[in-house]
Amino acid sequence: MKNDKLLLTKIVRLGLALALALLIHVDPSRAQQRLPKTWITILSTTDVHGNILPIDYYTNKPDARGLAQAATIIKAARKENPNLLLIDSGDTIQGTPLSYYHNKRNNEPPDPVMLAMNALGYDAMAVGNHEYNFGLRVLEKARNEARFPWLSANTYREGTDQTYHKPYIVTDANGVRVGILGLTTPGVPTWENKENYRGLEFREPLGEAKKWTAVLREREQVDLVIIAMHMGIERDLRTGELNPGQVRNENAAAAIAEQVPGVDIILMGHTHREVPSLVINGVLLVQADKWARRVARVDVYLEKDEATKRWRTGAKQARTIAVDASVKTDPEIVRLVERYDRETQSWLGRVIGESSAELTAKEARFRDTAILDLIHRVQLATSNAQISMAASFNTQARIPRGPVTVRDIAGLYEYENTLVVIEVTGEQLREALEHSAKYFRTYAPNKPVTDLVDEKVPGYNFDIAEGVTYDIDIAKPLGRRI
Ligand SMILES: [Zn+2]
Repeated sequence: MKNDKLLLTKIVRLGLALALALLIHVDPSRAQQRLPKTWITILSTTDVHGNILPIDYYTNKPDARGLAQAATIIKAARKENPNLLLIDSGDTIQGTPLSYYHNKRNNEPPDPVMLAMNALGYDAMAVGNHEYNFGLRVLEKARNEARFPWLSANTYREGTDQTYHKPYIVTDANGVRVGILGLTTPGVPTWENKENYRGLEFREPLGEAKKWTAVLREREQVDLVIIAMHMGIERDLRTGELNPGQVRNENAAAAIAEQVPGVDIILMGHTHREVPSLVINGVLLVQADKWARRVARVDVYLEKDEATKRWRTGAKQARTIAVDASVKTDPEIVRLVERYDRETQSWLGRVIGESSAELTAKEARFRDTAILDLIHRVQLATSNAQISMAASFNTQARIPRGPVTVRDIAGLYEYENTLVVIEVTGEQLREALEHSAKYFRTYAPNKPVTDLVDEKVPGYNFDIAEGVTYDIDIAKPLGRRI
């Protein structure tokens, strides 16, 4: 009996000690639970390039892409988190025959991409270089039709401190004060017709990011800074080497993440790459693929700091969600652009010529082809120049034997480029061809053919000349190949 009592006392003591130990352990976690918490979701698209319906207009075949399919992903996420932020990183109003037809042939109705983005409830969009392709009148019309701001903190009215677009917005998301800053690649003047950006200048983005992030942090007292930029990663992160073929400051995402204090999230664009999740210096970077083929998603978890009463980021993560064939097309978005699609299709179907043979661009970057000669003939006839230079933009381009339609020609030359005539010396022409020849890696015996192209050099930078005869010797080093 006595022994039993002793045992019981021991058990009670042990129990008390355990309870005490548990209390000590439980207490801090309880305190943590009391800390107010919140969660923000950000969805991001970029380089939509006029893609709304899931179709490739050049082949007239269905293709998984576009805002109508992305809408299904966006709407599902909004059900789960009604206050999510939806942001685009630019190059939206140009890029498909549908947007070309709207901007060049019938600009009366509202911009179709803005209609779709309004319906989806976008919060903001960074301005891309291609927004300038049709001139400022078309740009401003689309911007006015958007029910969300177009952002660019580094685009100024020439010689002033007045930005041409809104630099940033401050918005509330689940109780958190969020600043969204927009930046545009300063390469615009390198690629664009002067009259399409007359009176504007595009300043170096790193300094502008520092300046405006400080405004958001200090004057606007935001808890979270998001930069939506029409720029991507500028260098190989393994070696630190700048990617070849870029204009000065064309991309600055890594430099901004490393050198600008106070940035939390960077939503990238412009380089048409997918970056599911990348952390540089504590900054989370993400990039959705082009054409709304993916939607990028960022989730941020925040806690309120008791002392300062400010929200503090506890954790953040990013990923991209594929817009593949399994993703349904949203009927609301389809309805909005039906009339634009009908007009585009009837224009693309018009017969404008006849070809006696089938022409394909598959090998246009490797040998002389009739399909590229067609571009050269048009350029030489229109300009009266002695030499024509052109790139093979779409290696899938095909002109069938028989009737040729607007669709076939549109597929051959996909961009809204402008033909210019310049006078050059023979030496300058040779240098231009040497520049183009960077498209190829240096050949060594037994190297597989698949390894001959340097994929870091975009195919649209590989110009081919007509009116001169030349060989490219890719066994020779860069600069000595022509
Ligand atoms: Zn783009």
